[in-house]
Amino acid sequence: MIPAPGGELLRAPLFHTPRNPFRDSSALESYPDGGLLIREGRVAGCGDYGTLRAVHPEVPTVDLRGGFLLPGFIDTHIHFPQLRVLGGLGRSLLDWLDHCALPEEARMADHSYACRVAREFVHGLVSHGTTTALVFGAHFAPATAALFEAGDAAGLRIAAGQVLSDRLLRPELHQTPERAYRESSLLIQRFHQRGRLMYAVTPRFAVSTSEAMLEVCQTLLNEHDGLLFQTHLNENLQEIAEVARLFPWASDYLAVYERFGLSRPSAVMAHDVHPTDSELDRLAAGGAAVAHCPCSNAALGSGLFPMRRHVSAGVRCALGTDVGGGTGFGLLKEGLQAYLLQRIAPDGMLLGAGHLLYLATLAGAEALGLSDKTGDFRAGKSADFVYLRPPADSPLAAVLEREQSPEQVLAAIFALAGAESVREVRVEGSIVYRSAAVEDQ
Ligand SMILES: [Zn+2]
Repeated sequence: MIPAPGGELLRAPLFHTPRNPFRDSSALESYPDGGLLIREGRVAGCGDYGTLRAVHPEVPTVDLRGGFLLPGFIDTHIHFPQLRVLGGLGRSLLDWLDHCALPEEARMADHSYACRVAREFVHGLVSHGTTTALVFGAHFAPATAALFEAGDAAGLRIAAGQVLSDRLLRPELHQTPERAYRESSLLIQRFHQRGRLMYAVTPRFAVSTSEAMLEVCQTLLNEHDGLLFQTHLNENLQEIAEVARLFPWASDYLAVYERFGLSRPSAVMAHDVHPTDSELDRLAAGGAAVAHCPCSNAALGSGLFPMRRHVSAGVRCALGTDVGGGTGFGLLKEGLQAYLLQRIAPDGMLLGAGHLLYLATLAGAEALGLSDKTGDFRAGKSADFVYLRPPADSPLAAVLEREQSPEQVLAAIFALAGAESVREVRVEGSIVYRSAAVEDQ
């Protein structure tokens, strides 16, 4: 849909975090009778509706009261080929990979199957209010291309890459370093910076990548401007022991990636549940971000994320759903799970609703180097947002009948809202998703 040329003024309560609440206690901004002025796909104003209306009387108002406007959610860790293994509970990481994830990832060799899953995957993102995602593609180049095409067709911001591995998985998932270089280079030429797409160099994890493969990753990053990098780090104790066995020269897990220049700004390391203090200091100094995936960490029994240690060391953290080790596409649920696990973690942080919103939005934009484009409603940013409106007979609708502070309202949204509350999602002002339930508003 083409945005209205003269702009629109959307009227609804709105929330955003234009600053980092881990550093600034006033980071959460909310307007109970809010206005979001959109022009040519960008935010032209955000604040109190009456104030914006007085300054821009010529712009038509779209009355969305009864629901809420939030910046579009940003998922910093998710695997496209694992959609159909969601719900595989009861295993730990390496066992889950062997029995659940990798057999399904091997099916991505069938291109028509991969195209089908790519469409389902993109629908999963938009229908949960996710407008930007950093995605592990498939081990196969055509399947990874299918993901890019589906993301492009849907109008989403997708950063993704072919998953690279040359050992210890299943033979059909391995590439030689030469083939990995050739196929990745072609995908970069075809998709990097095409519309809203970006390419991310994606070695699966140190266990499944030889030094020659990590060298290929370094070469690709050196040969092209603006690429992202993503991989896994310190997810599970057994995995960490395996990395120590395979790279005896490395002082710790992060040192493997550092040797090849891969821990850098625009790098996103998934999990980091078991870091050493030295690794945290080096992540902060190198500028890499961590994708915290609390549903996955609990589902696979990986451990409790040491958020306070990350924040104290100055490591940037954002949220990832880690489909399919996680439990679904919802970043509201992921935020709630982050809150819950910090409540029970030794030395856990007490997270407020503003922290959860920041982790699900602007923190992700910062991790992906996109904070000049998306993540909050500051003027000039892309109009990427989700309109939430709970079904009339839902517990959330009942809770919201009570008089409450904006922070309590946002906390209730994190606790109770799921995909059923996502009514409309836009990227650059254009609708990318509208719920079938939208008629009963
Ligand atoms: Zn993962």
